Amino acid sequence: MKYEQVRTIDPAVADALEAEVDRQRETLSMIASENHVSEAVLEAQGSALTNKYAEGYPGKRYYAGCEYADEIEELAIARAKELWGAEHVNVQPHSGTQANMGVYLAMLDPGDKILSLELEHGGHLSHGHPANFTGQTYEVEQYQVDPDTGYIDYDSVAEKADEFTPDIIVSGYSAYPREVDFQRIQDVADAVGAYHLADIAHITGLVAAGVHASPVGIADFVTGSTHKTVRAGRGGIIMTTEEHASAIDTAVFPGAQGGPLMHNIAGKAVGFKEALQPEFTAYAEQVVTNAKVLAETFEDHGLEVVSGGTDTHLVLVDLRESHPDLSGGTAEDSLAAANIILNANTVPGETRSPFDPSGIRAGTPGLTTRGFDENDIAEVGELIYEVVDNHDSDDVIYDVGERVKELCDANPLYE
Ligand SMILES: *Cc1c(COP(=O)(O)O)cnc(C)c1O
Repeated sequence: MKYEQVRTIDPAVADALEAEVDRQRETLSMIASENHVSEAVLEAQGSALTNKYAEGYPGKRYYAGCEYADEIEELAIARAKELWGAEHVNVQPHSGTQANMGVYLAMLDPGDKILSLELEHGGHLSHGHPANFTGQTYEVEQYQVDPDTGYIDYDSVAEKADEFTPDIIVSGYSAYPREVDFQRIQDVADAVGAYHLADIAHITGLVAAGVHASPVGIADFVTGSTHKTVRAGRGGIIMTTEEHASAIDTAVFPGAQGGPLMHNIAGKAVGFKEALQPEFTAYAEQVVTNAKVLAETFEDHGLEVVSGGTDTHLVLVDLRESHPDLSGGTAEDSLAAANIILNANTVPGETRSPFDPSGIRAGTPGLTTRGFDENDIAEVGELIYEVVDNHDSDDVIYDVGERVKELCDANPLYE
């Protein structure tokens, strides 16, 4: 990829853009929330639609000249409905956090109560963290995973809901490797008269492909990211029933946002079309198979995998037992030096600081996009273990880094 027009105006930015493409080509992108979109999605996102104001919704805009914006947004909505089976879809949220903001704004008043999973146990900032607007606007109570099993403690969700009487219960997580039982959370919500927001940001693609159970038709609101396991470019989405459709649309615009990012909505339309192809199901299945192989490889080497495995695209490793002196942050740095990019993560029962926690989180969506299969992933697991186990050996880091480059060359990206 050459950024020739950028280069004539701004060589510094062109250099960095080209270097970023090379970085993605030459490293293993294993941050569980990241992926690589197709060049078709990139092209749509880089289109002249970035120039267009289209406040409002298809057919009822506040500006003239929206006929093509309408066409594209309607395509994005129709495809999303087909992918996830929702009655109503809003494709305008700029991000997953904005999608959640839309739901809260539509259904809650300041001071209302949110029950959600604790951040350290795999939750998300936008579920009520004190540093986020949600923690500052609403009253928040949090549930946890069972420290022994690593699974959501559904009984404690029910107990907390009874005591706290939340207005909304949030399910769906950032660092949870297991299948979520959305119906069980819905039963708790029904019992206490709360709404249920299922935030499937991480697993949007897995749900679309049917490799993870869907909350659509169960939860009142389903929010998602369009850039994680579905490869439709950076953004958010809200799905709901006809009953709540106009409340959601009004909350997104004019409630939380101004003009929609129509170029990103074009990217969503194209990425959703790709996800409707039969190959996408095979992709999503391979993502999960690869994550399972990664978890097994780690366990074979004595690393502690939270919950003992995975049902999804991600694996969470708790380093405290096997490598008590190694923090997640140090592991992240050593792995990055070996061209393996993943992130340090808190683990259930965290005893270190959130800035340098005890775990690492690894995802398979990006590598699977590049064509990595079980054998490749098993080798990647071995390489990760070698670095973790020899995190201060420059020789090991160098050798692993060279092997990673070969694996990248064998599975090229953006040719
Ligand atoms: C990634 C994520 C989001 C969305 O994050 P943005 O960066 O705002 O797009 C929302 N909820 C959960 C659980 C996530 O993991």
